[in-house]
Amino acid sequence: MNGFFTIPPAVNEPVYAYAPGSPERAHLKAALAEARAMELDVPMYIGGQEVRTGQLSRMAPPHDHAHTLGHFHVGDASHVHQAIQAAMAAKPAWEAMPWEQRAAIFLKAAELFSSKYRYAINAATMLAQSKNAFQAEIDAACELIDFLNFNVQFMVEIYSEQPPAQSKGIWNRLEYRPLEGFVFAVTPFNFTAISANLPTAPAMMGNVVVWKPSETQVYSAQLLMRVFKEAGLPDGVINLIYTPGPETGDVVFRHPEFSGLHFTGSTGVFRTMWKLIGDNISTYKSYPRIVGETGGKDFILAHPSAEPKALVAAMIRGAFEFQGQKCSAASRVYIPRSLWVQVKPHLLAEMATLKVGPTEDFRNFVNAVIDERAFNKIAAYIEQAKKDGVEILCGGNGDKSSGYFIEPTILMAPSAQYRTMCEEIFGPVLTIWIYEDAEWPNMFKLVDTTSEYALTGAIFAQDRYAVAEATWALRNSAGNFYINDKPTGAVVGQQPFGGARGSGTNDKAGAKVNLLRWTSQRTIKETFHSPIDYRYPFLGEE
Ligand code: NAD
Repeated sequence: MNGFFTIPPAVNEPVYAYAPGSPERAHLKAALAEARAMELDVPMYIGGQEVRTGQLSRMAPPHDHAHTLGHFHVGDASHVHQAIQAAMAAKPAWEAMPWEQRAAIFLKAAELFSSKYRYAINAATMLAQSKNAFQAEIDAACELIDFLNFNVQFMVEIYSEQPPAQSKGIWNRLEYRPLEGFVFAVTPFNFTAISANLPTAPAMMGNVVVWKPSETQVYSAQLLMRVFKEAGLPDGVINLIYTPGPETGDVVFRHPEFSGLHFTGSTGVFRTMWKLIGDNISTYKSYPRIVGETGGKDFILAHPSAEPKALVAAMIRGAFEFQGQKCSAASRVYIPRSLWVQVKPHLLAEMATLKVGPTEDFRNFVNAVIDERAFNKIAAYIEQAKKDGVEILCGGNGDKSSGYFIEPTILMAPSAQYRTMCEEIFGPVLTIWIYEDAEWPNMFKLVDTTSEYALTGAIFAQDRYAVAEATWALRNSAGNFYINDKPTGAVVGQQPFGGARGSGTNDKAGAKVNLLRWTSQRTIKETFHSPIDYRYPFLGEE
């Protein structure tokens, strides 16, 4: 096509409020009822095939685990091989497709999620991942749509970046090729938007992908896949498989065509993968790109000048929304003794108003944790705290009889290095350390060195010297740093997200730097007046 096409400008998707009586609330309730009434039979998607193995795994709402949402077909190593083959078969046509045709597919997918499938994808996320209406809306609808729209814009910005002014008779060009081989996208349970972003970001840049979601997120992942197909994604460009993690890694990381890993999940799993990649490095045709966003132990540091009510709201939203199962969730808070006197009564009063229960009852702020394994792990931290004589300010109990519910729990750290101040729990557990006001100058080192992570963190202070001091002193403690705001809820296109140290490679999801990782650049130099003599003037006789 002849034309330098401009794309529709990316704007953040409006967030619906779902207030009582609103039309969106009625639509969402209808979608929930419809999904609940169905039992899905979910195949893998390999090439143009829907693959059913007959080995079924049941899907259930974490807040009502007796109910069956459907079953998915579990694959094995042979399906990993098939997915790689299908990806490689799709590669020549896909990488030759003009960028505007690729862009159109993902812009159309964004539009489908914004309109036709908005309530279906939110309902899926509410039912199968136990996110309440608002948490589902900001993830499964808005962030997902933003990823797709903004990434198209970033793709175009990348392609537009060309070498500067040419010398006479020479034209320099930069071509952003996809990687050779295939990309492996491995996605976590906790964000439907991340699940969509990890396979689509490389695919948008012309790559072919093998996508393995978390088994507790298959219910919404399969809907993502169906919508991508409806938007026009050709067969084999993204291949969705439900195979056990280690078995999948075993095939992928030994394959010569493996060219990139796009991972979000826990730090331990990422390190295992990196090691396997290292062990097999001489097998690959190219050095693989490794992008991983992993765990967090995110902090809020309050200064004596902090506004107490703003701090309490940030603690509650930051720590307990989606049951603390966000990599960015606030899980350790440092409060000066002088401020604690004002914070404590307000915090306790507010905590007493939080309702815990199923997502389908919209009054619940806190819902269930993802599965029994997570429930047991979080409960074990709380039980150990009880055994250690830790003061439990509120919560401290769980009940998994009908759903995996854990009360929002606040622990008072007996020491600044108590294990719940250091380790990622990934549940509704917040630990508070009260420091003496005079200790403020020592707080930065403490906050910085308490955990191996560096994902998100927040400073609460009205004193601008304190803000300035913290912003500088904690510059390596978080990839996303907040001033007088909770450390969660990054918005695509506004706060590029990711952390360093044990939290990942900091390749900022939903940002230009991330998309660049899925390209391999070729520089083209063309000379219009080629020299016909090798001799330079300096070689001449005096
Ligand atoms: P997880 O590490 O248990 O699983 C992530 C994915 O890896 C899943 O698809 C899983 O099946 C797969 N997997 C596990 N072992 C594997 C192996 N050996 N080989 C190949 N694949 C394997 O993580 P999760 O419980 O789904 O998600 C929660 C974690 O994700 C938390 O640690 C959280 O902090 C992190 N997270 C980070 C970010 C971020 O942006 N930094 C965002 C969301 C979640």
